[in-house]
Amino acid sequence: MSVGISARPINLLSRYVGRLAPSPTGAQHVGNARTYLIAWLAARRRGGHVVLRIEDIDSPRVKAGAVQSALDDLRWLGLDWDEGPIFQTERLSFYESALRVLQAQELVYPCTCSRSDVERAASAPHADQEGPAYPGTCAGRTVGSAASLEDRSFAWRFRVKSEALEFMDGFRGPTQIRMRETGGDFVVWKYLGTPAYQLAVVVDDAAQQVTEVIRGDDLVPSTPRQLLLYEALGLRPPGFIHVPLVVGPDGRRLAKRHGDTRLVSLRQAGVRPEALVGLLAWSCGWIDEPAPISAPELVPRFRLETLPKQAFVLTPQHLASIGFASGSSE
Ligand SMILES: [Zn+2]
Repeated sequence: MSVGISARPINLLSRYVGRLAPSPTGAQHVGNARTYLIAWLAARRRGGHVVLRIEDIDSPRVKAGAVQSALDDLRWLGLDWDEGPIFQTERLSFYESALRVLQAQELVYPCTCSRSDVERAASAPHADQEGPAYPGTCAGRTVGSAASLEDRSFAWRFRVKSEALEFMDGFRGPTQIRMRETGGDFVVWKYLGTPAYQLAVVVDDAAQQVTEVIRGDDLVPSTPRQLLLYEALGLRPPGFIHVPLVVGPDGRRLAKRHGDTRLVSLRQAGVRPEALVGLLAWSCGWIDEPAPISAPELVPRFRLETLPKQAFVLTPQHLASIGFASGSSE
């Protein structure tokens, strides 16, 4: 059965394809800018092709105007693209085809559990971002049993048969993840009738022939799940590179409590993009001082190896140095 996409033929001479994939569920901030800059430079350094994809599948959380704002942010940073923007909401039929491929192999089952059911049934809930591991309440169901659920709403969950999975991260090296820590059997199709992030991203990266995914290391737990989907769908996975995030002085992921770090605010305050790009380039070890520089000027300087293994701690002093007086936390 086809998922409406063809597996990329193995060809060592094939071009590099990278992607920028903003999610319009909120404003893009300085942390996003650093990851986009790294991903864009990696592609441009190799003469590669850049796909711009808008991950707007999580419709209830998509904010009005956020798509246009994300495009304006990228252009302001000096990052361009060769293809797109491609909107996930226009690709639903491809995700549906992929779900049918999984159903045909009995790799998914209908799950009627609510979020609170899962939390209640979990024997050892842990507080990580993935939530408690799914206890397998509905794992005895077959695909065919969905018909008897009639008007009950349900999600489709993928059966995770492996205990652990190891992949080679192009930055972190060999990375092993225990599947229980990523939540066990995971949702590929939400009860609202829309694809889950994991499925949509795999279908898209394959269809758009992305050869290397560069993203924040908060997404490391997604990678083993996506690799299982590539295998189940008969698709060849891209390479994966997870880079450290930008954090606030308290060591926590950049958020509202750290003051305003939204790119739209920097733009409106008249910050020069070269000033921000210079600060980020310095944080990545490509220039010795945080002096203004444009994204295209960084292409010959790009090296993944100089990137610190730790998160970049963004301080109000950094922002002041590029001409932005960040407001206090709301
Ligand atoms: Zn269930």
